[in-house]
Amino acid sequence: MTSVISKSSGDPKLLPAGPLARVGIIGGGQLGRMMTKKAKQLGCEVHVLDPYPQSPAGTVATYQIVGRFDDPVKIRALVEACDVTTYDIEHIDAEILATLEQEGHTIYPTPGLLAVIQDKLLQKELLVAHDIPTAPFLAVDDPSMADMEAFGFPLVQKARKGGYDGKGVSVLRSSEDEGEILHCPSILEKMVDIDVELAVMVARNPSGEVVTYPVTEMEFDMRANLLDLLLVPARISDGLAEEARALAARVVKALDGVGVFGVEMFLDKSGTLLVNEVAPRPHNSGHYTLDACVTCQFEQHIRAILGMPLGASHLWAPAAMINLIGEPGSRGPARIAGLPEALATPGASVHIYGKTECRPFRKMGHITVVDDRENQALIKAKQLRDIVTFHGANPE
Ligand code: ADP
Repeated sequence: MTSVISKSSGDPKLLPAGPLARVGIIGGGQLGRMMTKKAKQLGCEVHVLDPYPQSPAGTVATYQIVGRFDDPVKIRALVEACDVTTYDIEHIDAEILATLEQEGHTIYPTPGLLAVIQDKLLQKELLVAHDIPTAPFLAVDDPSMADMEAFGFPLVQKARKGGYDGKGVSVLRSSEDEGEILHCPSILEKMVDIDVELAVMVARNPSGEVVTYPVTEMEFDMRANLLDLLLVPARISDGLAEEARALAARVVKALDGVGVFGVEMFLDKSGTLLVNEVAPRPHNSGHYTLDACVTCQFEQHIRAILGMPLGASHLWAPAAMINLIGEPGSRGPARIAGLPEALATPGASVHIYGKTECRPFRKMGHITVVDDRENQALIKAKQLRDIVTFHGANPE
């Protein structure tokens, strides 16, 4: 087993326990916060880099460096202080990370993999090169209506770089949608006739050990293109679920990934699975694993990047998850409504990310409900979605 944990005790069977390792995390958002908590549970020291002092992860980490994700000096300071560095966001300078890796520092997922994920064209090309089913696409440098017409409608245009949560994605149904064109290097994708959007979390360590999680079913809030409701196990056949997990594992092996990955898929109306995209980190669709699985995605990520054995991904009970996002119409110091009701709901676990400032559609927390009884997790989660809301103290 390849491990970054130094054998400073002099006996390879005795690992240093205080700290076990120094883990660096670029990005201090909620994903970094949940990674930090799990790393500390395992006895690690955690260093977080984020532009905002008192970031959600920075407040629970051992140290926070305040700096931007493209600041070579700050990134170097973080990486040099740590045994292994990871990230909770893809929009960071992969070139700086590649230089640091060449100098001998351990960074997972690797900067080379990050560069592929950051460019939707390279990502699609990698999927195709490994015979992984994905929607047909075409690369265009300077998209025009003639390109769209030649490719055929309906289509989904995606900016090659910089998109997230649906930003950088545009749907064009006919030549009348000229105003929807994004003017940047892009891929054009055939519009998939989606039956359901699925995701599978996959963990892989440097020895090539792979663990996949149960398939989740996702519903999006179309106002902000954010995950709104998640259900696990997905309401698909056992055979299809096995196929989806095997496909997700193939994707992560094709990337030679180390860490935890969210593999997003479409099940189309003809029953075919198509891989949409990959997140090189714990993913919103895997938050339920904190409360519903033996080993959660955040601990699994830390185990994987440390080069340690992976944990079991078994689901204890069916679960549903809702995101708690800032309501439109207000911003400012965060206020939450409905918390006592959520805490009074059997099987509900509330996670609040510690963001003091609320903005419309900002992810402020989530709730997972576990319940063994048919549909009960989903029913309770939907009820709580209407009751538990985040607001800013000031009207917009
Ligand atoms: P982002 O990286 O911003 O999350 P995605 O590629 O996940 O962008 O696309 C956002 C959403 O757009 C998806 O969740 C899905 O609902 C829709 N979408 C993306 N690609 C297609 C497609 N080829 N056909 C139909 N819908 C799509």
